[in-house]
Amino acid sequence: MRSIWESQAWLESDVVIVGGGLVGIQTALAVLHRQPRARVMVLERGFMPTGASTRNAGFACIGSLSEVVSDIDLLGAEAALDIVRRRYDGLQGLLSSCQGRDIGYLHHGGNEIFLDEHPSLSRIEEVNEMLRPITGTTTFQIRHDLVSAFGFSARVRHLVHSPVEGTLHSGKLVRALWSMAQQAGVQIRTGSTVSRVESDPAGTIVHVQGVSQEYQIRAGTVIVATNAWIPELVQDHEAAKITPARGQILVTEPIESLPLKGSFHFDEGYVYFRSFEDRILLGGARNLAFEEEATTSHDITTRIQDALEKLLREVIAPYQPTINVEYRWSGTMAFSPSKQPIVEHVQPNVIVAFGCNGMGVALSHSIAQRVAEVLGN
Ligand SMILES: Cc1cc2nc3c(=O)[nH]c(=O)nc-3n(C[C@H](O)[C@H](O)[C@H](O)COP(=O)(O)OP(=O)(O)OC[C@H]3O[C@@H](n4cnc5c(N)ncnc54)[C@H](O)[C@@H]3O)c2cc1C
Repeated sequence: MRSIWESQAWLESDVVIVGGGLVGIQTALAVLHRQPRARVMVLERGFMPTGASTRNAGFACIGSLSEVVSDIDLLGAEAALDIVRRRYDGLQGLLSSCQGRDIGYLHHGGNEIFLDEHPSLSRIEEVNEMLRPITGTTTFQIRHDLVSAFGFSARVRHLVHSPVEGTLHSGKLVRALWSMAQQAGVQIRTGSTVSRVESDPAGTIVHVQGVSQEYQIRAGTVIVATNAWIPELVQDHEAAKITPARGQILVTEPIESLPLKGSFHFDEGYVYFRSFEDRILLGGARNLAFEEEATTSHDITTRIQDALEKLLREVIAPYQPTINVEYRWSGTMAFSPSKQPIVEHVQPNVIVAFGCNGMGVALSHSIAQRVAEVLGN
């Protein structure tokens, strides 16, 4: 049985957010910004956030040329541009809210490389005109000169540079956001796995498995921001149809005089690499094994890691006689059926917030703002 002190001070909150990744923590900040007197609590199952947000590649990007063209063809120009606008605005919002914090942001620009001809290359001018009102610049520029400057193999036939992208330190970003939320008064509880969210006439009860005990927290509103793990808490809703997608990553040991700078997209966005300090971070290639990679497991596989290493040696850094890999890991992305961000009620006082679809650095800020709007004042 709980004491009245425990119940009122520790087990009640106006807003409970489940999941402390980029969406969850920024939602806490956005809600408090609109409702400064609200009691806001974040429940995170890990010792630190252990979903995609601290295991990603740290691209602050809005989509490469081939990705934007593919979205235009798939979703239509209006919907594709809407999503680029949300990414662009979200990125500006995130960067300005973190101003003055060390998040390792570097504005070296982004690039896409092609080993073969690609239909998107002939549409570069059309896409640039569509994106100009959003980015205010020529978003995609053909830059053959950068192929040798970055040290790539001559197999790279085309390089498209984008001045609007940057890279950041994903761990420092989430740590900065957690610290901003704590300073704003958000209660963050780690080691708190939510097992069930239940509505009754008096409100909503969040069942939490703590380290050694179970707790029930009474909440005014619950926001489920657990990304790939949403189906564990939400059934009978579109959100339950989310598809997990593992992304595997490797990071090399430091490479002397590394010529590469910035972020790089390859193979229609399935492969991505970037400079980090004097190392190369390389990830993706889940298109080599779609079914095997549709998992929330954080294992890595030799199939994907070997393919990434081959690309590293043969295409990205052929100038380097030996390259040792120092870190390998994987994280879980989640794709919504519509490929769009979703903020929706699943019960009267329960909202799901997800759908970054592999671009959470850019989209999480706007998803969080949307939740705060839906909650109102
Ligand atoms: C390998 C990889 C590379 C990526 N690269 C990039 C990139 O370069 N740029 C980019 O913009 N995006 C990238 N992404 C995507 C981006 O990381 C995600 O879109 C974003 O982090 C999603 O944030 P989120 O808060 O929705 O989810 P998550 O970060 O997954 O957060 C969900 C949180 O919920 C917690 N949780 C789960 N279940 C429970 C429960 N029952 N109770 C309590 N807590 C729970 C988890 O521990 C986790 O911390 C990448 C993703 C991966 C996996």
